[in-house]
Amino acid sequence: MSAQKRLVILGFTFSTVLIGLVFLLAVFSINDNLNKCYKYFGQIISKSLAIECVEMTKGLSENTLYNTLRTHTISILESNDDMAFIEFRDNKDNIIYSSKKDNMCPKRIARINVSSSMLSYDTGNQKIVGSVSVGLTGSVIDSISFMTRLSLLIAFIICWLTIGLIIIMNLIIATRELNALYGGVKRLSSGEFGYKLNIKNASREVRELYKAFNDMSEKLHTYNESSIESLMLEKNKFEAILMSIANGVIVCDSNDNVLLVNDHAKNLLDVSDEEILKTNIKQYCDNNGIDAFKEKIEEYKNTPIVEMSDKPLEFNIEVSEKVLKTVISPMFLSNGDYVGYIIVLIDVTKEVEMDRLRSQFVSNVSHELRTPVTVLRTYSDTLSSMGDEFDYETQKEFLQIMNKEVIRLHDMVNDILDFSRYEAKTVKLEKEMSDVSQLVQECVDRANILAKEKHLEFVVMTEPKLPQIPINFDSITRALMNLITNAIKYSPDNTIVKIRAEKMGDYIVLAVTDQGPGISEENQKKVFDRFFRVENSAHTVKGTGLGLHLVKITVEKYHSGEVFVHSKLGEGSTFGFKLPTAEKLAELEDNYEQISRK
Ligand code: ATP
Ligand code: MG
Repeated sequence: MSAQKRLVILGFTFSTVLIGLVFLLAVFSINDNLNKCYKYFGQIISKSLAIECVEMTKGLSENTLYNTLRTHTISILESNDDMAFIEFRDNKDNIIYSSKKDNMCPKRIARINVSSSMLSYDTGNQKIVGSVSVGLTGSVIDSISFMTRLSLLIAFIICWLTIGLIIIMNLIIATRELNALYGGVKRLSSGEFGYKLNIKNASREVRELYKAFNDMSEKLHTYNESSIESLMLEKNKFEAILMSIANGVIVCDSNDNVLLVNDHAKNLLDVSDEEILKTNIKQYCDNNGIDAFKEKIEEYKNTPIVEMSDKPLEFNIEVSEKVLKTVISPMFLSNGDYVGYIIVLIDVTKEVEMDRLRSQFVSNVSHELRTPVTVLRTYSDTLSSMGDEFDYETQKEFLQIMNKEVIRLHDMVNDILDFSRYEAKTVKLEKEMSDVSQLVQECVDRANILAKEKHLEFVVMTEPKLPQIPINFDSITRALMNLITNAIKYSPDNTIVKIRAEKMGDYIVLAVTDQGPGISEENQKKVFDRFFRVENSAHTVKGTGLGLHLVKITVEKYHSGEVFVHSKLGEGSTFGFKLPTAEKLAELEDNYEQISRK
């Protein structure tokens, strides 16, 4: 039982006892006073009866006296219920008349007896002639006392009930208000900030408390809103930054559990949220089921943190044919506490491939350079030392071989030079209206020597009256030459190479078709990439892998055209490009200008 309830019961019992005591005291004192009054009343009655009877019986004979007193007594007893008996005695205390003896009103029992002397003043002296005794039943005071007790009891009960009712009502009101307050506090503690108590229902004393509660709730709500808002804002900002980082980011706690991971990281590692979030990063396995990070994370953990923050741990992992550069660096709070580490994943597949191709390119170029230089040196040495010994035809043959090697050397050096100029973006190609048929013819003439060696037949199909188009003649010639030399290089002996030039819509299309080995669909996507060579793995036909890349740059970047390849393994290939006519080029340049102005 609560202390409050115990206090209420104690107070209630105490007030009951107190009121009860007051009630009893009142009843006793009223009874006492009533008895006293009643006694005085009896004395007055007996005295007046004595006086009255002395006067009444003066000079009466004994017999008449008796009758007179009897008649008088009867009339008094009949008219007064409160009298039990009346008794007259002479001065010798002999009974003259007694209603008791007369058996009058036998049921009336006297509770108070009062006597008074009957005095006669006949001779001028006071003389006692007898006495009167009166017996009083006390019925009046009994009824007065009863009524008094009853009314006091009723008053007590009413008073008790009222007090009880007031206490209970107060208790109910106070409990209800406290319960409402308790409910409110509970709601606040469960996070329902802003909850308000109904002030109208509260008593005056509690109203202030309710107001204070509502104020507090309102303030908590405002604070909560603003702090949640700012927290959400910060969180969103942080997430937006994390998500918009172009590299993969994984945040781990000091126990290697993944706390955060951005979409790029999930894509790079080929995992979903459930597969990586809250898991141990050391357990992540690549597609071959090999722990990708475990060993390196242990190495990171075995290195002092200071060392790691100065020089993060870097290594490469391979996941689903991707090469990911991985950087692990420690993460600290603003107070300097170490809380975990961040793993940054950078997709370096292309760079790694490019490095590989570049080193391949260097080796190819060196090889490609060495061959013609060796041939040139051998033939020029022979010619200069023993030239006189050879006849004209042999000398001419030697010179032709040397010329062919010089052309190869020249083309290769040109390619490498073009490539470095294009890479450095220092080239500005001047365009002039040129005749494509003439360009095709020049290329065919130049390539004839090479074609003859392999007994290839050139079929040239140039549409008559092709319009002149704005191009840089030399660079487009080199581009077409690249396609033609490729076709020669990769064609088997005694096959046909078709060279086509035609107008298609707003473009002039130049294409070279051969009956060579063809290129797989997968490699078709890569042939225009720099350094890419299908033969890199096979090392059959030599080359640098720059030719088609230069064609693409020349056509697409400098002439707003487009390169294409159609090929089927074992059936041959068609490499070509389309160049816009003057009108189309103007239109394209116009559009480009508008876009760049926007
Ligand atoms: P170079 O830079 O000396 O020309 P390359 O010919 O090897 O060297 P590209 O001209 O760029 O380099 O060609 C890239 C690759 O495309 C070649 O290595 C070859 O594998 C493939 N290729 C190009 N043309 C043909 C073709 N006509 N038929 C089959 N494969 C071809
Ligand atoms: Mg080539």
